[in-house]
Amino acid sequence: MNTQIIDGKLIAETIKSELKNKVLTLKEQSITPGLAVILVGENPASQVYVNNKKKACEYVGMKSFSYELPAQTSEKEVLDLVETLNNDNHVHGILVQLPLPKHMDEQKIILKIDPAKDVDGFHPQNVGALSIGLEGLVSCTPAGVIELLKRSEIEIAGKHCVVVGRSNIVGKPVSLLLLREHATVTICHSRTKNLETVLKQADIVIAAVGITKFITGSMLKPGVVVIDVGINRDENGKLCGDVDFKSCQSVASHITPVPGGVGPMTIAMLMHNCVLAATNQGGASN
Ligand code: NAD
Repeated sequence: MNTQIIDGKLIAETIKSELKNKVLTLKEQSITPGLAVILVGENPASQVYVNNKKKACEYVGMKSFSYELPAQTSEKEVLDLVETLNNDNHVHGILVQLPLPKHMDEQKIILKIDPAKDVDGFHPQNVGALSIGLEGLVSCTPAGVIELLKRSEIEIAGKHCVVVGRSNIVGKPVSLLLLREHATVTICHSRTKNLETVLKQADIVIAAVGITKFITGSMLKPGVVVIDVGINRDENGKLCGDVDFKSCQSVASHITPVPGGVGPMTIAMLMHNCVLAATNQGGASN
């Protein structure tokens, strides 16, 4: 099989350079898109993600405002900070880095974010908008998956897409987005029976399971498109996905690698959401 490896890094770079131009246009209208990131505690992985987000803001010409709070910060303090940022017209996007420390109610904090500034797309208003086909901010990783397919010129309409995973962060929203693109969508999860039989029928597989090398080539139909959302570590501590790349590559027409597939798209789509939020809000001064 002459398999095409989808270069998520390259596609993400292209999106970010397109956004650079959009930011320049907004600046001509005296609007500089601004992203506020709230990080509570000292989770090393979260610190890496937050730094990457700051760098991406700088690259596209946006402002970033960083709030790095100690782990013992109270829930009320975070809610008050979100409220302040909701009312700050230099801030167009608010992102609360998850997971939060255990003494905080994540849902309560997400609910506090102004839906117009909810660039992670986790607020129930944005999730609801997606499910009934209204405009709204779409969560970044699922939006990145659709963008990867479109920019690789893979047709979605009429295709049978099998999504493995039903989380609120990936599985459910990506399924809704595929449906919006007119795919026939099957969602599989931990209680699905005969997963292999379902997978064999897929034209496009989206893997969002969180289990190292869970999907292997023998489970797939020749010519399938494989999008691997997973970010795991293998037995040697090496980054890998939910898909066994080697065996799947030999049957797939297209496949995303890990790293370098969906991962870079998440930040590119976050930048996209910030620019969209700033465009929709308008009016804020430089
Ligand atoms: P999650 O743990 O919330 O959900 C996993 C899903 O997999 C569940 O819905 C569960 O039902 C399903 N599942 C578990 N075992 C299964 C089985 N045996 N058969 C079928 N389904 C099974 O995970 P998540 O937050 O959706 O993340 C999934 C993966 O994607 C993780 O590896 C995560 O690190 C990665 N991720 C990557 C990005 C990115 O930017 N690329 C973003 C978010 C998550």
